[in-house]
Amino acid sequence: MKIDAALLGATGAVGQKFIQLLRGHPLFRLTELFASERSAGKSYGEAVTWKLSAPPDPAIEALPVFSCDQEPRARLVFSALDASAAGPIESRLVSLGHLVISNARNHRMDSDVPIMIPEINGSLLNKVSPNKGALITNPNCSTAGLALSLFPLHRAFILQSVHTVTMQAFSGAGYPGLSAWDIVGNVIPFIDGEEEKIEQELPKIFGRYNGKSFRPAPISVTASCNRVPVREGHLLDVRASFEKPFTLEKIREEWALFRSEAPYLTLPSSPGSPVIYIPTADMPQPSLFHEKNSMSVYTGRLKALSEKEICFKALVHNTVRGAAGNALLIAERAALIGLL
Ligand code: NAP
Repeated sequence: MKIDAALLGATGAVGQKFIQLLRGHPLFRLTELFASERSAGKSYGEAVTWKLSAPPDPAIEALPVFSCDQEPRARLVFSALDASAAGPIESRLVSLGHLVISNARNHRMDSDVPIMIPEINGSLLNKVSPNKGALITNPNCSTAGLALSLFPLHRAFILQSVHTVTMQAFSGAGYPGLSAWDIVGNVIPFIDGEEEKIEQELPKIFGRYNGKSFRPAPISVTASCNRVPVREGHLLDVRASFEKPFTLEKIREEWALFRSEAPYLTLPSSPGSPVIYIPTADMPQPSLFHEKNSMSVYTGRLKALSEKEICFKALVHNTVRGAAGNALLIAERAALIGLL
């Protein structure tokens, strides 16, 4: 029997991606949808401005949309709420005993809340009680790509510092997001709060948990973020230095060998290879994501700047690995260990 799941923020860009990815999912059944007062009381089909190519399941279109002051019946709650609303709504549901997996930034830096990428720190789920509420957060969408591409290298060579320049798709600003006047034929060299999020979240994800709070890894992270006229996919320019020397061959090998550990490798949303290096000179490009959901981060343009410093590009699908897909992978792992 499938596990019931509720979705908060069902009408937004990330909410729609959840609905797409949960269609026919082998473990979960989407049973309840929530959004703002603007949408509450309508059917999902009436409330949503659907932006993905294939239409949603007619059974989902017929579901009523509830306001977030109502409590879901399902223990498993995915949150794709706007940050202006997410904080208190998610806290209340945790206190009522729900397992909330959130995409919002509000609680990511709380001392006792994990920011989870299952292949990196999914074992933190073992600390969650099956009988109590808990909050697990996804990283920021650019952090997800940065962390996944660097983690196998960090394990091998110990990351000391990283600087990234991001080129982020406009779907990252939600729907309707930016006006055409602002983004068509333009680059906006500022995304409010984004640089700070990347700089704080990566050391927390690579850090240690002592059972009560997180100690961030001693890594210096700086970020410079740009919004570009691309629909899906954040491209990151990364410059990283390590404690130990490496060879480029060894870097490519670490990416190629990086896997989720068994039995999590077989989860429905688990990609075979979380990091895929593309040797072609002009790759990776966001066009790889046209009509394609990918849980892998694509890397390329790898160069050595010194015996301990490299630069490369990384591409992450912002609404899949950067949001709904990563949350689904967390939920699948939670289901496998009996938390749902
Ligand atoms: P979005 O398109 O603006 O959708 C926001 C959702 O929140 C809508 O369902 C909206 O409902 C709901 N909402 C807004 N105000 C509300 C309120 N006061 N009470 C209850 N519900 C409310 O945003 P998004 O891009 O999907 O992002 C959702 C969350 O994921 C955000 O926290 C964002 O930062 C994060 N995130 C986004 C991405 C991305 O690539 N887009 C990636 C990672 C993380 P109505 O339609 O009824 O207004």
